[in-house]
Amino acid sequence: KMESLDASVSRILVFVRLRPMGKKERENGARCCVKILNKRDVYLTEFTNENDYLRLKRLRVRHFTFDSSFPETTTQQEVYSTTTGDLVEAVLEGRNGSVFCYGATGAGKTYTMLGTIENPGVMVLAIKDLFAKVRQRSLDGNHVVHLSYLEVYNETVRDLLSPGRPLILREDKQGIVAAGLTQYRAYSTDEVMALLQRGNQNRTTEPTRCNETSSRSHAILQVIVEYKTRDASMNIISRVGKLSLIDLAGSERALATDQRTLRSLEGANINRSLLALSSCINALVEGKKHIPYRNSKLTQLLKDSLGGSCNTVMIANISPSSQSFGETQNTLHWADRAKEI
Ligand code: ADP
Ligand code: MG
Repeated sequence: KMESLDASVSRILVFVRLRPMGKKERENGARCCVKILNKRDVYLTEFTNENDYLRLKRLRVRHFTFDSSFPETTTQQEVYSTTTGDLVEAVLEGRNGSVFCYGATGAGKTYTMLGTIENPGVMVLAIKDLFAKVRQRSLDGNHVVHLSYLEVYNETVRDLLSPGRPLILREDKQGIVAAGLTQYRAYSTDEVMALLQRGNQNRTTEPTRCNETSSRSHAILQVIVEYKTRDASMNIISRVGKLSLIDLAGSERALATDQRTLRSLEGANINRSLLALSSCINALVEGKKHIPYRNSKLTQLLKDSLGGSCNTVMIANISPSSQSFGETQNTLHWADRAKEI
């Protein structure tokens, strides 16, 4: 259960999810280099002589530990309940929170967030749970649920529910908002999966590969719950909570240069929003007063959902394949850093 948090302390919960080995990977001779034990411990093995079976040696095993680590057999429901269930509860109480999927392209971020029709992911399960909880509470007030789904690609913000021109970010009383963004009023879970699937198809695709979502696209689902009721003397009481669920761009390009400043990366083919998010998380983890939200579109959009008394959850997605060893190692190092407080 979520403890009540001191407003100055941000706790970032960090989880790791290992996806199953793909058929193609196995056919290509990939070996499994990740093992998860006790639902917490992650062991990463580096192999040498990848192409010389007889002399195959295990070089080194690295050990990491997280709030929870999910082996490849973990169900979508289990991932949802462990990582996001408490945040849905908090949003109903009028608090903000965010859940990110971080990892290299192909590591399982979209599967975890959106999932498939047969195996819906965190976004869909969160909304389903939210509606169930709203129904239970319908007697003591009125809840209204709105959804928005947007993309940040190349520092351009687009509405995934009604694609068109880029949206401009404006600062108003409520904070930073994307002007003209569709706020979809949702009444039931059934409509939501189709809506999100369609939205996901509106994400920017790589110019060279048709129908494949660009590895540089961030998708952000925001669920806003407004609650109104009257107290004993008939005064209106209202509160608003916001849950942000984010399928981040592939981390592979950002990692190599993580240490450099954003400024020197200008013009380089690097994801500014992803680096800016890392900087904000580093600043939060180090307890800094100044959090550099202004550095990117992604961090501006999430300013009211990161840090402070907000609940922040990271799901680091990794592949078991020895062919992805480098990316997996980078992701685990990043996640290890994020959990320090
Ligand atoms: P990413 O969004 O990080 O690029 P995807 O979510 O598209 O990666 O996953 C890559 C492939 O692996 C997809 O075909 C996806 O269906 C599959 N996959 C990922 N995670 C799982 C999982 N936990 N169980 C089964 N298949 C998975
Ligand atoms: Mg994806």
